[in-house]
Parts: sequence; C-alpha cells; structure tokens
Amino acid sequence: MDNLLSHKNSGDPIIVKVKDIDIGREKKVVISGPCAVEDYDTMILLAKKLKSCGVNILRGGAFKPRTSPYDFQGLEEKGLEILKAVREEVNIPISTEIMDPRDIEKSLEYIDVIQVGSRNMYNYSLLKEIGRLKTPVILKRGISATIKEWLCAAEYILSGGNENVIFCERGIRTFEPYTRNTLDLNAVAFIKNNYRLPIIVDPSHGTGVRELVYPMSLASIAAGADGLIIESHLNPDKSISDAKQTISVDTLCDIINKIK
Ligand code: PEP
Ligand code: MN
Repeated sequence: MDNLLSHKNSGDPIIVKVKDIDIGREKKVVISGPCAVEDYDTMILLAKKLKSCGVNILRGGAFKPRTSPYDFQGLEEKGLEILKAVREEVNIPISTEIMDPRDIEKSLEYIDVIQVGSRNMYNYSLLKEIGRLKTPVILKRGISATIKEWLCAAEYILSGGNENVIFCERGIRTFEPYTRNTLDLNAVAFIKNNYRLPIIVDPSHGTGVRELVYPMSLASIAAGADGLIIESHLNPDKSISDAKQTISVDTLCDIINKIK
C-alpha cells in the first residue's frame, strides 16, 4: 500500500490540471450542475448562469447509478452528446461519471474529468482501465469505505500510470437517518495533512439536505478542501434525481462569493 501515493513529507502538493484550471492550489475550485443531464435547453441555460457566477467545471450525470433499476438511469450517450455541445458553446470543462469500463473510450471525446462514483470505488476493473489514461479523475469515497480502502482505490489508478487523481469526500453511511450520509470532514483534514493529492468535498450527497449544503460547504473549506462539487438546478424541486439535496443557482452563487 501507498507505494505511489505521495506523502506530504515527500514534497509539495500535487496539482491536478483540468484544462487551464489547477486543482490543489490556494484558489478553490467549484464544480456544479444537475445530478443528471436532463435536456439540452436547461443544461445550456444552467451552464451559462453557473459560469457567470464563477463555477469552474460543469457536472451532470449521463449514466446514473440508481438504487432501484426502475428509476431514471440517465440519458447515456445522448447525455454525453448534450454535455459535449454545452462544453463547446459555453467553453466550460465537463465532469461526468463513468460506471462501465466499456464506456470509457467513447466518453473521452466528450468530457474533461471522469467521476468514479461512490458505488464504484471498489470496481477494480474500472479503476485499472482509468489508470491507463491521463484524464483527471474524481475518486469518490465508497459509501462505507475506510480511508485506507479509499487510498488503496487511488493506488489502483496511480499504479496504472494516471497521476491525476482528485479525492472526493461525499459522506459515509452511519446509523444517522436524519441526513442521507454523514459528511466525514475528519477524512478531509486527514488526507490534506498526510498526502499530496488534492481533495474536494460533495456536500450535496454528503448531507442529502438542501439547507445543509451552504454551511457544510463552508465547513469543508475550513477543513482544508481544495474545492467543492455541488448539485444545482434552475428549478431544484423539479430535478429528475436528487431534488431534495439540489440547490438553486442563487444559493450556489452565495457559496462561491463566500468561499472565494
Ligand atoms: C452523483 O454525483 O450524482 C452521485 C451519484 O454521487 P455518489 O457516487 O457520490 O453517490
Ligand atoms: Mn446525485
């Protein structure tokens, strides 16, 4: 373990580059967009608003890992097409989740950052395939993963030759039912103190509660996070997935103004 994960005492922080955006420097990076890509018209309008309030990278799921197989599974290739069109028109980098190693190759022309979702942190075939690339990857923490298991998952990607790993704390499953997950800010401070790779926080999945996204965004930055990934929507209550944790563009702008 830890053969390639760079320890803090072995040098300066590692900066992961997404186009011209540096993740891991003093300046905090904000990634935002809907849980799922829904349609072109709302995505383009949202992307323009997000960019103008300082969002650095646009997110949106084309392949959605849903607990129930009967829930909306994402627009898949059509979702990727929408993301690509928005990227070109708005000139903003794109981050999206890839679940199946067979989807990696075709996705590369559409996106700038690959998200490994919480449910796939243990998908070692996926991690090995992503390790062969140079594309930056947001590695979300598994829903019940220890920090060590999470570090090992990063090691799978790093040992394949892809050094562009960004950790993402997105809450872990605990005994507490009032929030969707328990945002483990200990892990953020721990990784910042001990390792050189960047780490961001997802307070949307970390809380599951819209009203908690603002305070936990600030808490994440205070704990040392290099940035945030937040679900936002033009009409949060109408979001196809994760509506309860999705915030408005106005709230997102408030968060950005506060942290920057
Ligand atoms: C998401 O980002 O929409 C998502 C499914 O997140 P997670 O993998 O953290 O549950
Ligand atoms: Mn979501």
